[in-house]
Amino acid sequence: METTYKAVEISAPRTFRLVERPVKSPGAGQVRIRVEACGVCHSDAATVEGQFPGLSYPRVPGHEAVGVIEEIGPGVTSWKVGQRVGVGFFGGEDGTCEACRRGETAYCQHPTITGITTDGGYAEMLIAEARALALIPDELKSEDAAPLLCAGITTFNALRNAGRAGDTVAIQGIGGLGHLGVQFARKMGFRTVAIGGGPDKEHLASKLGRMFTSMPRRRMQRQHCKNSEEPMSSLRPRRVEPRSQACFPVLQFEANLLSSECRMTQSRLTAYL
Ligand SMILES: [Zn+2]
Ligand SMILES: [Zn+2]
Repeated sequence: METTYKAVEISAPRTFRLVERPVKSPGAGQVRIRVEACGVCHSDAATVEGQFPGLSYPRVPGHEAVGVIEEIGPGVTSWKVGQRVGVGFFGGEDGTCEACRRGETAYCQHPTITGITTDGGYAEMLIAEARALALIPDELKSEDAAPLLCAGITTFNALRNAGRAGDTVAIQGIGGLGHLGVQFARKMGFRTVAIGGGPDKEHLASKLGRMFTSMPRRRMQRQHCKNSEEPMSSLRPRRVEPRSQACFPVLQFEANLLSSECRMTQSRLTAYL
């Protein structure tokens, strides 16, 4: 058995290092995973740039990791060696804080966060809390499954809690999250409009089978700044009756932002509704 493995760690803000680390056995309630794929998420920048409070170095980023369980620690009864699993940003709850005791573990006050409080998936192996693992179906390739562990769950949860089939949703930005959101929304039966900032995104949105409306990049950026102050409140999808006037608030916000050169797009949008 190997005694070391390769990892890419951040040794100081903005400093990546390829290192060789000793293989460790998982502790109680943990498993060691042989990483097959790990997505790159923008939140990894918090590790790279040193932005996350309490972050200490060296730290291996990566919270979209998929791999095979190589060893299980004491007390782990629900997982077996050889299973393919994934671990995301939420790496486990403490089980003792007020939020946990209310059953709201996602709001744990002292969570394990993969790639931030513990080493993540930019490595040949990682140790994860068994209670935070997701089983990966055989038919899903590791590299396809990995982005679902953060970008996927983020967009899926937003849509799951936003409405029901037949409602209209607008997805702003067809990037790492948006391109997944568009696909989920479509499969979930939403009337889906993709809003992006260029012909390349239009091509992708069309490929994903969605109506697309473009917004000039500068407006997208301005919009993004505004959203930072008022987090997406105007864009939040609402539960509405399809094809009624109530559909419009979801998109009216965007439609109002479309500049005169996008009038054609605006009318296409209205027609779509
Ligand atoms: Zn992420
Ligand atoms: Zn907690």
